[in-house]
Amino acid sequence: MVQTKLIEDDEISEYGSSTEYKCCPLWKTRNKMVWIRGTSTKDVDILFVGEAPGRDENLLGRPFVGKAGQILNKWIEEAEVTNYAIINMVKCKPPNNRKPLQSEIRSCLPYFVKQIKELNPKLIVALGATSCSVLINRKEVVTNIGKIFKTRYGDVIVFPHPAYVLRGVDVYIPITELKKILRYIKRGGET
Ligand code: URA
Repeated sequence: MVQTKLIEDDEISEYGSSTEYKCCPLWKTRNKMVWIRGTSTKDVDILFVGEAPGRDENLLGRPFVGKAGQILNKWIEEAEVTNYAIINMVKCKPPNNRKPLQSEIRSCLPYFVKQIKELNPKLIVALGATSCSVLINRKEVVTNIGKIFKTRYGDVIVFPHPAYVLRGVDVYIPITELKKILRYIKRGGET
């Protein structure tokens, strides 16, 4: 396994403390706002974008630290991604594990856009339907897995959401495609 330095807590303090942001009603039920996890806060090769925090993320303040995160970590390791960040579309946990509402996604969009600018990813991995609905303007995931879309946010490749895999659904994970793009990035190319 490749050892990489992970983003420290003080590196994300620029986003402010959890109590400062009250951009949509989810602030009332959140424990922590969930900003970022990974190896760097700027100029990453790959940016993974999920949906919204779950129970574990809400407690720890970091994205994908529960069971779905273990699957994502496995994909990251398999694809040999060493310079990456992981964020969510929505920064606070929706109650009862429901999907975020359109209004909540819209409220978080300015923070998402700010993060994309700072992270300046060479490739974005859209994890599942919520991420796809914003990044590629399509909710259909399965038929788009492994495809690359040119978007206003940059180049986006579609992956299934790790929680989908956790439910036992047999779905293609485009690790080979991701590895191929990484090789291209490392040779100095754009995707
Ligand atoms: N699912 C997500 O989309 N994001 C997380 O951070 C955890 C689970």
